[in-house]
Amino acid sequence: MQQYEGKAKRVTVRDDGDVEIYYKDDATAFNGQKHELFAGKGALNSQIAERLLVYLQQRGTPTHHVQRLDDRTLLAKRVKIFPLEVVVRFKVAGSLAKRTGLPDNTVCAPPIVETYYKRDDLGDPIVNDDHIRLLGIATPADVLTLRRMALKAALDLKALCDKAEIDLVDLKLEFGQSGAGILLADEVSPDTCRFRDKKTGSSLDKDVFRQGKGDLLSGYREVLQRFEKALAEVVRA
Ligand code: UDP
Repeated sequence: MQQYEGKAKRVTVRDDGDVEIYYKDDATAFNGQKHELFAGKGALNSQIAERLLVYLQQRGTPTHHVQRLDDRTLLAKRVKIFPLEVVVRFKVAGSLAKRTGLPDNTVCAPPIVETYYKRDDLGDPIVNDDHIRLLGIATPADVLTLRRMALKAALDLKALCDKAEIDLVDLKLEFGQSGAGILLADEVSPDTCRFRDKKTGSSLDKDVFRQGKGDLLSGYREVLQRFEKALAEVVRA
């Protein structure tokens, strides 16, 4: 069976064409330069990703998610991933603070949508629509679709975060082409979103690891708990 080993996940292609996504305990940052294992991270992230993908699917974003297989493995439809990371930002942080000199936490209204070329050897550079056309990564029509889908998913996730008393600062989404059109793929989790406590502003995501700020998994557990509560409220409403 064909396998793809990623930094935080292992993807196995099944004979039926679906893929098994195994969430590893690895945390990496700075393009893989910083690396550590956190026992239980894979299971936690798979639970958060499952809940968020199902929620987004229910709100009208088609995703690759199919079902859970075990405590850290999710089944998904096989897609051809666009080599693009689509980042939606509600507030300035990380590379946007570095690029613009604007202070962390400055509100981006309306939200900003950015595209990055997924190329580890180039350090995932930011690219605009003209660069994407030059590279032949996606058609101009597909880029419009990716931006529109990313913004919708981000706004839906922000609504859930607001209920969970979480400040959604920014997030990274990936998309893939399937027989049934473009699907939201990959994970949506504290590895790929900046989640901060609304009241204290403290990080509940991978920034804790990036900045060596303490116990990574306690934030992830907190995020899962808060989303579970907020999702139960959405169902009751
Ligand atoms: N992000 C990600 N994978 C990457 C780069 C960024 O998931 O390879 C996420 C990151 O967690 C944050 C958002 O995308 O939620 C914006 O990240 P940024 O461009 O500020 O870069 P970073 O500060 O993570 O280097």
